[in-house]
Amino acid sequence: MYTEYPTTRKEAKELKSPYYFTGLPCKHGHIALRKLKGTCMECQKIEWQETNAKRALLPKSEASKKAGKKYYEANKEVVKLRALSRKPEDIIKYRKTWKAANPDLVIANSKHRRTKHKQATPKWLTQEHKTAIKQFYLDAMLVSKVTGVPYAVDHIVPLRGELVSGLHVPWNLAVITREENSKKSNKINLQS
Ligand SMILES: [Zn+2]
Repeated sequence: MYTEYPTTRKEAKELKSPYYFTGLPCKHGHIALRKLKGTCMECQKIEWQETNAKRALLPKSEASKKAGKKYYEANKEVVKLRALSRKPEDIIKYRKTWKAANPDLVIANSKHRRTKHKQATPKWLTQEHKTAIKQFYLDAMLVSKVTGVPYAVDHIVPLRGELVSGLHVPWNLAVITREENSKKSNKINLQS
């Protein structure tokens, strides 16, 4: 393991090698390369990961939001593919992080969704129908929990389709994976 590296810091300095390998564990028990200053590379990697995770939770500046939007506009297909190829458990983790970082948008989104559903709910819907609708949402939640794959309630005929608008009624609902759902709407919907 790492035989091509100097084994002491002194030697590394003399050889002008940026790394050395003692084969001894750091104070956290990693047997890894050390930087010339003595930093354990494994410790540093963990520190970077923690910093990145913390940064993801910080509210984004207008400039960084703008840059993100610009990147998305220029690389839509790549971004979509990347989002679709994420592992289900990563999607759940990502969604949690995103929600924690964007509480205002979470509220705005659920308000928007509620309004959309309300507008598409016919006045003649019975209590029984309404209970059936609730059941779809409970089912989606349950299946997601049990399988670890995120599921969503889909409107078979979209509420605001290009040609026709579907209704928010039990017979227009289906429980499908979020992956199928986002493929169907052909846009990434990481917020909902
Ligand atoms: Zn270490």
